[in-house]
Amino acid sequence: MRSSMATSIFKLVDMYLSSADTTSSIEKKGSHICQFCRKLFPSKWKLTQHIRVHTGEKPFECKICGAKFSQKGTLRGHLFTVHETTHSLQFM
Ligand SMILES: [Zn+2]
Ligand SMILES: [Zn+2]
Repeated sequence: MRSSMATSIFKLVDMYLSSADTTSSIEKKGSHICQFCRKLFPSKWKLTQHIRVHTGEKPFECKICGAKFSQKGTLRGHLFTVHETTHSLQFM
């Protein structure tokens, strides 16, 4: 009796099933994937910045009106359009 034949077929089926699984094939080493929307990012800080979209974390605060922003660029844009200033303010 040869039982090794059956096990090799099982291995083939297992290989086929795992290759058909899209989520495991997407996750390549070196790329940073968003745990929330499975989007890929080339660098870790870009992913960190993107994750704030999901977590709602807003570390940048407007010193004038207290509005909070997730991105530094958005705060700068706010300062320019709302308060008509481009530089971050020094008064506390
Ligand atoms: Zn995401
Ligand atoms: Zn403001």
